[in-house]
Amino acid sequence: MATNVHTSTHPSKLLAPTMSQHRTFKNDEFWRALPGYADVSREEFADARWQLKHSIRKVDQAKNILGHLLSEEVYQDMIQGQHITPMNIRITPYIFALIDWSDPINDPLRKQFLPLGSQFLPDHPYYAEDSLAEDEDSPVEELTHRYHDKVLFLPTTLCPVYCSYCTRSRLIGGSTESVEKETYGVNKKKWEAVFEYIKTQPQVEDVVLSGGDATMLTAAQLTEVGESLLNIPNVRRIRIATKGVAIYPQKFLTDDAWFGALTGLHKMGRDMGKQVVVHTHFSCTHEITDWSKQACDRLFDAGIIVRNQAVLQAGVNNTVEEMVMLTRKLAYMNVQPYYVYMHDMVPGCEHFRTTIKEGEELEKAVRGTTAGFNTPTFVCDLPGGGGKRHIASYEYYDQENGISVWSAPNVKPGKLFTYFDPIHKLSKDAQARWMDEKTRQAMVDEAIKKVE
Ligand code: SF4
Repeated sequence: MATNVHTSTHPSKLLAPTMSQHRTFKNDEFWRALPGYADVSREEFADARWQLKHSIRKVDQAKNILGHLLSEEVYQDMIQGQHITPMNIRITPYIFALIDWSDPINDPLRKQFLPLGSQFLPDHPYYAEDSLAEDEDSPVEELTHRYHDKVLFLPTTLCPVYCSYCTRSRLIGGSTESVEKETYGVNKKKWEAVFEYIKTQPQVEDVVLSGGDATMLTAAQLTEVGESLLNIPNVRRIRIATKGVAIYPQKFLTDDAWFGALTGLHKMGRDMGKQVVVHTHFSCTHEITDWSKQACDRLFDAGIIVRNQAVLQAGVNNTVEEMVMLTRKLAYMNVQPYYVYMHDMVPGCEHFRTTIKEGEELEKAVRGTTAGFNTPTFVCDLPGGGGKRHIASYEYYDQENGISVWSAPNVKPGKLFTYFDPIHKLSKDAQARWMDEKTRQAMVDEAIKKVE
């Protein structure tokens, strides 16, 4: 008899407590627990226009809605946060009401959308406003062309919520106390230049519409963008990126004109033999309710493929339990858990970032808990414009000093890229080394030399 057979836990028992939780979706009138929403009916709350009209844009609005539920200490901390954050506040009542206001400090939704002054850490010495160098690879405004056959088109800079960690905080959501921005909203003249450019690039088959968020385009604008792209012969695939499914599901359920524009594009694409799909952005299970399930069901009924792109964030989703549950819940809603990104090295986000090691460990823990096609790929989008690379595909990783070196042979042949773990997660000795400019540069040079 083989000696290496052991009586391990049967796979059906692994993570047993979570086995059915992913099939349960919150469906109570949770918003009524907040004093400001006590009289809001289900019909009002379900209305996409009501959600947008009542978005929270100022700390004082939050205070008015929460009343006695918000302590003066947290209120002052939010005000401090506004002096620092590169992102303005914009949050739908739906997400605002899902925050656990008995513990706002630790709530993953509050962390993502309502920054506190006390949570910020100094930016990493090698952070950049345009960490992914999207502007560098931009042949015309609002367009990034980095990969051979794919372009990224940003037709708007508006979103129904503003995420504190937005990788495009240099553009999205208007100027803040700490950052001046040229937020352009919608500019159709610039769209024309984008369409003309794509026509001149016959190798481009894939267009990602991002921003900004597609739910902030009107139905007519969405149709105009989508039809213009589908009518370009070389375009074969359009991905419409929207966080809306996660933070504004009412848009998919009650704005029939907009939803009709989306399904119209999908049908037009299918008739032409082209793909029109939705990429959404759930980062944690707290964002998922029966409203999300209904929105995903409606997309599924229309035959539209939905994929998810999450960002790995400390205190939001960086535990095995949360990541496995997120993966299962997404799969249950017929959303493919496509990517989990390492956090970009953009301003105001150091407290969110995790180490490459942590990402690798989570990837290992999630893999095998469900079918491979429903397992997210953990990637690092390389600072400097190398594109997305699998989390374990670095050329060299100095774990002690948090320095990883990467290559991107098909994107920028011959060039090396670096990603840095957050300094506060390193040993005290390593933190001290990072404090000294010369030592820090020598460590980075040494890591690069290992690969050259
Ligand atoms: S929805 Fe996307 S583009 Fe808009 S603020 Fe959030 S991360 Fe940025």
